Amino acid sequence: MDEKLALLRLEGFQKLLSTLRDNGYVTAGPTVRDGVVVYDEINSVSDLPQGFRDEQAPGRYRLSKNGGSAFFGYAASPQSWKKFLYPSLSKVFSARREGAGFSLIHEHNETVKYALIGARPCEIAAILIQDKVFTGGAHVDDAYKARRENVFIVAVNCAEPGGTCFCASMGTGPSVTAGFDLALTEIVEDDRHVFLVKTGSEKGVSVLAHIPHENADDGFAKKADDVTKAALSKMGRKLDTGGIKELLYGARDSRHWEKVARRCLACANCTMVCPTCFCSSVEDVTSLTGDIAERWRKWDSCFTTDFTYIHGGSVRQTTASRYRHWITHKLGSWHDQFGSSGCVGCGRCITWCPAGIDITEEAAVLRAPVEPSTAEDQGRGHEKP
Ligand code: SF4
Ligand code: SF4
Repeated sequence: MDEKLALLRLEGFQKLLSTLRDNGYVTAGPTVRDGVVVYDEINSVSDLPQGFRDEQAPGRYRLSKNGGSAFFGYAASPQSWKKFLYPSLSKVFSARREGAGFSLIHEHNETVKYALIGARPCEIAAILIQDKVFTGGAHVDDAYKARRENVFIVAVNCAEPGGTCFCASMGTGPSVTAGFDLALTEIVEDDRHVFLVKTGSEKGVSVLAHIPHENADDGFAKKADDVTKAALSKMGRKLDTGGIKELLYGARDSRHWEKVARRCLACANCTMVCPTCFCSSVEDVTSLTGDIAERWRKWDSCFTTDFTYIHGGSVRQTTASRYRHWITHKLGSWHDQFGSSGCVGCGRCITWCPAGIDITEEAAVLRAPVEPSTAEDQGRGHEKP
């Protein structure tokens, strides 16, 4: 495929949405609801969070209108695109009583064709990670595969990283390199508001052909480059990934886990907002008459006691063991399991942790030299028993 660069004006951007809808896609994108940016079906560019900016810090999110005209001036939303590709609740099958037995009814839900509008580079990296989880092994999740094969991705390069973002440390942003059909860079100037578009697939080339656009000269490519360079300099956080797997494996018996556990509420927020977390459980429900039974699959979290419950009790009974497991899997053993980190640096788990626990800070504490006398007082530090 020949990569193509083009320039899209606002009419062209609206036409992109209508063309995708005409092609049978449900256009899903960012929109403002209840004081946050959420991802939901959008019909027009007027549904986008134009002029909104967010402020993010550990345990803190504030969205406000800044009067600007950018559509994509916010950072990571509390929701991620996994809600479309891997819904939080889905019916696996039903069983209906028939005489002395039951008949099983497998769910054949029609696969919705989603066009994801405004996926950030870190979010696309998260989708590529979930692809490995759900389709890369011996046991393929057919429902995920079907949704994934039908998706169209319009990426948007990041211009305004949030205070909890660290995609640059994880090598997943702020500019997108793969996994998209079209990639946009929003360029907002005093007298101009345009998008530089890059094609990333034959599907993208075909859609672009139906949208009014102009050829982009080198000047616009340079402007787009400047947008992502500026984003790089505004990254809110850093995570030193050097030897991180070995660091975490070596910290198995650290007392630090107890210190994190004093703050951690085991609320599971961090796993619910994480775009790569994939754990689920199944729940069986029956009608009051006992004639119908249903099996549902729903997102679950390694932070709950029940998650590791087997006969006789839970494997990870303490909050300390659950936090240790989560961060060790995310930054360490994920490499052994799936060949990459399980973290893309989106910062959601930091922003939406009610206790403000920060994965970058916890990793840094484990790496820091031990100072037992002061570390204990500060409720942090990495001493081994
Ligand atoms: S662990 Fe945190 S920063 Fe990393 S991908 Fe998940 S939510 Fe984002
Ligand atoms: S680290 Fe924060 S978000 Fe995660 S379970 Fe603990 S308190 Fe909840």
